[in-house]
Amino acid sequence: MKLIGAHVSAAGGVFNAPANAKAINATAFALFTKNQRQWQAKPLDAATISAFKARCLQLGFDANAILPHDSYLINLGAPETDKLEKSRLAFIDEMQRCQQLGLHLLNFHPGSHLKKISETECLRLIAESINLAHQQVDDVIAVIENTAGQGSNLGWRFEHLAEIISQVDDKSRVGVCIDTCHTFAAGYDLRTMEATQATFAEFDQVVGMQYLRAMHLNDSKGELGSRLDRHHSLGEGTIGWDCFRFLMQDSRFNNMPLILETINPDIWQHEIAMLRGFAQEE
Ligand SMILES: [Zn+2]
Ligand SMILES: [Zn+2]
Repeated sequence: MKLIGAHVSAAGGVFNAPANAKAINATAFALFTKNQRQWQAKPLDAATISAFKARCLQLGFDANAILPHDSYLINLGAPETDKLEKSRLAFIDEMQRCQQLGLHLLNFHPGSHLKKISETECLRLIAESINLAHQQVDDVIAVIENTAGQGSNLGWRFEHLAEIISQVDDKSRVGVCIDTCHTFAAGYDLRTMEATQATFAEFDQVVGMQYLRAMHLNDSKGELGSRLDRHHSLGEGTIGWDCFRFLMQDSRFNNMPLILETINPDIWQHEIAMLRGFAQEE
């Protein structure tokens, strides 16, 4: 089954996210469990946790259909010790929040070397950060998102993802979220069914499909290889519909959150309906 949704608002409390997802006919959703632009957040209280769990149950959202995203401030490969330490503590807090909410996945951007350390050293720090978080929190899977390769962000080459995973001790608790916009901006073609098939064949060869835990479905404003992280509505960007038709008709993308982060929330319901239409053509 295809679990399709969007990154919905959790304004007013995380317990509001499930209804926001249901309102657009989603069967999956992503959310921030705290303000994504602040380091500190007050801990989740028991009433918030039970309200979130109750609404997920009531509206039919299983934990495997929910993909929390961490704060944008966190850099698990930060070159400076104080920033790295702060990021690691914040990441552990994010994992604990997921665990409290009964969730198993935590989506994050791997990190940036800020031109102060080598790529190799930065990838090593990221893997070490994941290992440290695993030691602190049981159950939650660290889901690395591939990036567009803007600035000094790592994780845009499939080889970066493979290198991080190779240095993670508990391979059962590390996975990957492939963002179609980032993939295309990083130089992997997705403009036709054939190109999409070839890109995922390369992903399978370099990383392994068994590590794929989620997808972000976005069209792109930037060109192939532009290294620009600029999302667009499905079918309106430089990728086009064929990529999304391919994903919907391939069973390797079943039973994982397939999340829209497209630029116009007013048409999310329409985009979800289009995707479901492709899935039924199977
Ligand atoms: Zn992201
Ligand atoms: Zn994304």
